[in-house]
Amino acid sequence: MTEAGVYIHVPFCAGVCDYCDFYSVPVMSADKRLDQFADMVLADLESSLNVHGISRVPTVYIGGGTPSVLGAARLSRLLTGVGDLLPDPQGLREFTLEANPESADEAVLRACRDYGVTRLSLGVQSFHEPSRRAVHRVGETALLPERLKLAAEIFGNALSLDLMTGLPFQTEPILLKDIEKALSYNPGHISLYALTIEENTPLAKVSRILPAPDEADRLWIAARDTLETAGYPQYEVSNFVLPGRQSAHNIRYWRMENWLGLGPGGSGTLIDDETGTGWRRTFIPNLDAWLDRDASRAIYTEEYLDQPALIQESILMGFRCLSGPDCALFEKRFHRPLESLIPQTLRRWKRRGLLQEHTLALTKEALLFLNIFLAEAFEELPHS
Ligand code: SF4
Repeated sequence: MTEAGVYIHVPFCAGVCDYCDFYSVPVMSADKRLDQFADMVLADLESSLNVHGISRVPTVYIGGGTPSVLGAARLSRLLTGVGDLLPDPQGLREFTLEANPESADEAVLRACRDYGVTRLSLGVQSFHEPSRRAVHRVGETALLPERLKLAAEIFGNALSLDLMTGLPFQTEPILLKDIEKALSYNPGHISLYALTIEENTPLAKVSRILPAPDEADRLWIAARDTLETAGYPQYEVSNFVLPGRQSAHNIRYWRMENWLGLGPGGSGTLIDDETGTGWRRTFIPNLDAWLDRDASRAIYTEEYLDQPALIQESILMGFRCLSGPDCALFEKRFHRPLESLIPQTLRRWKRRGLLQEHTLALTKEALLFLNIFLAEAFEELPHS
């Protein structure tokens, strides 16, 4: 049986936030490309499932962009279409859809629930109007309480909320107030992202309005500690959760388990556990080319992941989790224990008290220095 998660990238948003480097294009609801997208991505899903002989899809994740801008009618069609194409509907464990409050009205939320979505991930980012305005965050702040209340009524704690730290005009009391407000809707899951300034985003030009780096780090740590105290332990670099509410789909990425990626900007990876190698297809982030399907323009790139590349990626993804990489899976794929590849790095980090006692994983404090750990580990990895 070949099992794979499915990721569908919906490349549309109601506007463009200044810090964003995801691929999306701003659209109005009457844009005919929204209909074309829904039809074509379903055709691509059908063909990918067939070509790769996928017999079970345990998780589906519709992200973006902003899937909720498709509106209730198109979403109903898309969700029904995805459900109809699943080779083993009983095997589906989790079906996530990302939404933004400004387009997640009652009709959209009910369509999601009625047509198979089991987990809603809502992009809140902040309740603080000056911070939102400073980064041109799409959506009205005043709409948040009503939309969050509705989402919580419909999805209960199968609701995940995204929050951001390090925003302009954000102080610790403002951030902690944001967290208090978010938790008042009893979400099962919180993603806490530190604002990063990506090159070529408008925010890169006005970085002087942002908190200084030390202050931004302090804010993130204060938010982390507040979530943990509130009963949401951290389980990954940016993710906090009530018991049993982890994102099964994202766990597939962190374990490097098969997923198909569809839609412009979407990327999928299939792993051969026998040889410890992989194959990746990434759709080029160009909506018009993706819709045209003109044979003279490539719409995706393909990449072969040889064993060293896959080992590196498995370490990078696995150490993001507080439970660490799955050592048994690593050994099964690569025919050698993980510890044997980076013994000196592990010894050094253990000596500094930055590895957990009984699990091959970084401590919570060490996760703050994940990039340093990875740089040391990659340096030590055999290069063939
Ligand atoms: S809504 Fe999300 S995907 Fe769309 S522009 Fe803003 S940050 Fe990017």
